[in-house]
Amino acid sequence: MKRTVTCGDLRKADEGKTVVLNGWVHRKRDHGGISFINLRDRYGITQVVVDEDSSSELLSATGELKMEYCIAVEGRVRARPDTMINPAMPTGEVEVVAVKLEILSRSEVPPFVIDEKTNASEELRLKYRYLDLRSQQMQRHLALRSKVTYAVRQYLTGLNFYEIETPTFIKSTPEGARDYLVPSRLYPGQFYALPQSPQLYKQLLMVSGFDRYFQIARCYRDEDARGDRQPEFTQIDLEMSFVSRDDVLSLIEGMMGYVFRETLGKELPSEFRRISFDDAMNLYGSDKPELRFEMQMQDGAFLAELGTFQAFRDALSGGGKIKCLVVPGAAEKYSRKMIEDLEGTAKIYKAKGLGWMKASAGENGVSLEGGISKFFEGKAPEICEALGAKAGDLLLFVADSNGTAACTALGAVRTRLGRDLNLCDPSAFAFAWIVDFPMFEWNEEENKWDTAHHMFTMPQEKYLDTLESDPGSVKGDLYDLVLNGYELASGSIRIHDPELQKRVFKIVGFSEEEGQKKFGFLTEAFRYGAPPHGGIAPGLDRLVMLMSGETSIKEVIAFPKNSFAQSPMDDCPSPVDQQQLDELHIKIIE
Ligand code: ASP
Repeated sequence: MKRTVTCGDLRKADEGKTVVLNGWVHRKRDHGGISFINLRDRYGITQVVVDEDSSSELLSATGELKMEYCIAVEGRVRARPDTMINPAMPTGEVEVVAVKLEILSRSEVPPFVIDEKTNASEELRLKYRYLDLRSQQMQRHLALRSKVTYAVRQYLTGLNFYEIETPTFIKSTPEGARDYLVPSRLYPGQFYALPQSPQLYKQLLMVSGFDRYFQIARCYRDEDARGDRQPEFTQIDLEMSFVSRDDVLSLIEGMMGYVFRETLGKELPSEFRRISFDDAMNLYGSDKPELRFEMQMQDGAFLAELGTFQAFRDALSGGGKIKCLVVPGAAEKYSRKMIEDLEGTAKIYKAKGLGWMKASAGENGVSLEGGISKFFEGKAPEICEALGAKAGDLLLFVADSNGTAACTALGAVRTRLGRDLNLCDPSAFAFAWIVDFPMFEWNEEENKWDTAHHMFTMPQEKYLDTLESDPGSVKGDLYDLVLNGYELASGSIRIHDPELQKRVFKIVGFSEEEGQKKFGFLTEAFRYGAPPHGGIAPGLDRLVMLMSGETSIKEVIAFPKNSFAQSPMDDCPSPVDQQQLDELHIKIIE
């Protein structure tokens, strides 16, 4: 019994038709001899009715049915009586009166009920992922993922991009993480690496003249399981020749606009806001700010001299910053205990404390109370005027002799307040570009400079002369796309001059020899007329996650690993046979 319609197709206009449906028993109810079966497939749910005067064969097959049995039903479409119409179901105006029913496959009692969304534990969901994926929510997420990927391909192909695959067995590509290695059977003691990204290959494709490349690329990074990381994830990787930063940014703005319009019917602004890295840190305390609400941090340097609070004075004289956040109307809402809780957030980010005051209406205008207000006796009007605070506002402060630390800690409090005070519209998408990043970061542990993004990023031209003498102040020609507090993409204009590339290798501590050994093939390629080029790589998992309103990429990956980089379903990683190890010349040391 091959299906003639899906479980999402039937409407009132189909009344009287004879149809065949294939699907899974979602629910079954018996009402005084009549059975109602909700039959489910990827397209929807249709109610099937088995009347009590049906053939004995049909009745006995129906009697056997349990949840998740896979069946075929032939029947006639009948309009439901007005009182039985279910407006919540697209097929809710009709039902199919069964005349024949065949069990295609029986199911054991599933470990959890398949529903709109299961509330089983993550471990159980991943162990039985094939069942978890039957839930309407997971079906919707993977459908969206497929549509997003298709829209990306349409958009880029339409703009003359070629989709080109690059190898997954490569020589290690440094993106700052550990490589997954693949031992070579043919060459004892030698290894391939799985790509952390196709970075070097896409640059080589530019040298080859392909000009506009993209790939829906799987990337592998062996990082410690932390937060929402997956050992493998997918990027929309792209690269273009003869472009400047703004060409790449507007290409991505166009692509996101197209993808959101085609898949969610949502219009995005034609250009996204651009914020320099320095401003992002100063105003929001993060290089991936949540911009669905503003509530910018302010500079409170004037407070050091205005009052007698020693911690503020020490922070400033130590070369640091006093940062302040005015939280409108929150004075009443936040008890001392709740403020202590916020302080906990600031302390995670190494703040020494979280200063606070509450603005209220006093006899002579605004007054400041509580917390550190005693250090600012009589100064309330001046402080409130300078910070734009009104009666009823809560004022929060972090001061530190390390200015960046002050920004980061108060920024974390800002993000948390955004959540706690429901300042983020769940249906909004606040995109922004963060530009003018520092090119190098100081690595405290190893006592050396690292590149902030990767080693192939072009330093901004005005810093070329001071690259070696003052690496800390060099800005790179690199950009991040952020969305709702997440980093969605990183990219840069690349170095295409072999000499400049060697200078950057040297600053991050690669000897000429080491640079030659690891990336000699790239600098060699640059000697043959390498075009100026640049690119970017938006994370597909994150994009679909944010579009689905989820907070974990596992919700949009068909078969993800758990938080410990394991797959509870097929139980990997797992030991292999001794013979396989021998062939690979590998000895396990316990
Ligand atoms: N390869 C970079 C990354 O994975 C992206 C890029 O620079 O295009 O972050």
